[in-house]
Amino acid sequence: MATADLGMSLLSKLLSDFYRKSNAYFPDRIEEREFGIGDLERKIAYRHMQFKSDDEFRKYMIANAPPYVSCSSAYYHFPAGRPMSAKGWIGSELIFDLDANDMHLDCQKVHGGSWVCSNCLEKVKEETFKLIEDFLIPDFGFSDNEIMVNFSGNRGYHVHVKDDVVMKLDTDARKEVSDYIAGHGIDFEQIFREEMVRGSKIRKLVGPRPEEKGWRGKVARKFISIMNNGKESLEQMGIDKSIARKLYEKRSLVEMGIRNGNWDMVYIKNKADFWKSVIEKQAVAQSDRIDKNVTNDTGHMIRLAGSIHGGSGLIARKMAAYRNMERFDPMKDAVAFKEGSVKIITDTKNVLNMNGNEYGPYTKEEVVIETAPAMYLYLKGLAKVVAIE
Ligand SMILES: [Zn+2]
Repeated sequence: MATADLGMSLLSKLLSDFYRKSNAYFPDRIEEREFGIGDLERKIAYRHMQFKSDDEFRKYMIANAPPYVSCSSAYYHFPAGRPMSAKGWIGSELIFDLDANDMHLDCQKVHGGSWVCSNCLEKVKEETFKLIEDFLIPDFGFSDNEIMVNFSGNRGYHVHVKDDVVMKLDTDARKEVSDYIAGHGIDFEQIFREEMVRGSKIRKLVGPRPEEKGWRGKVARKFISIMNNGKESLEQMGIDKSIARKLYEKRSLVEMGIRNGNWDMVYIKNKADFWKSVIEKQAVAQSDRIDKNVTNDTGHMIRLAGSIHGGSGLIARKMAAYRNMERFDPMKDAVAFKEGSVKIITDTKNVLNMNGNEYGPYTKEEVVIETAPAMYLYLKGLAKVVAIE
């Protein structure tokens, strides 16, 4: 923009104030972390930055007020070193980046990919709980205090695992972790096997029991839950209408069988496809993306927990314990700019819910609203700041 953008100067002031007052954006072992700084065009415009202390970092943040700040998942002897091999890698947190945008939700077809609604936020929260409670804790044995969760600042959550063993994992080992969580390479032939019933020609299908560890137990539990959800759930998994009805009617009996490892009550025609979809339902959604970009990369830069997201003005708020996510409402608990009002011209067909209030829809209107929703619309590219009230 040729003329000074009032929105941009307001944002700088708000960010500077925020970083002056907050104490919740300093990572552990700050002097061993690499930082990256972004503007509104590029989330990471500069990297290979190092800060020797919280105080030095705070001064930088107050003076520069960058819209985006990223921090390495890795600890280095020389975080500012270049190329990467000169940094002296010490270890990396295992991180997972869960984003509602990768979940292909129906609501996104209505409100578009750049908008975030309460359903998006709820669904991605469920996936995050699934990652932690169905995989990280039971299958990998991490404990609550080794798992740190923060809101991404926009439409997802970041999970950081800081266990000593994990820190040293190389890219291949990290890939094994993400493949496991994505359900890649699971052989359902190994989960089920046919056994001859002794003294007869009858074959019996033996499969996993719900209380078993790992993927076997997950498959059994998921099947029981799909079945108990009703015929429609079974049909959605590609089971014929008539079989779905039969399974649902006899669900108590079928469930009892499965609890004893006997899957003979379950007749499914396209077995391979069916089990593939059971596994997909139970895997953490969008884990394909987790694979490629984040979890496997030991030098990955991720939004600094406790900093502001420049695409929303919300705080990438840290949870004291992952279970606090349950009651966490990003559109209330991650709101940063709590003072004053702003006059904006805005055009949006979606309703913004923030702090228990509704804003919009607006059709090229001039409105005066509180700073946080005004900046949210501005940073989403849906509003122009006209005046600071
Ligand atoms: Zn949505």
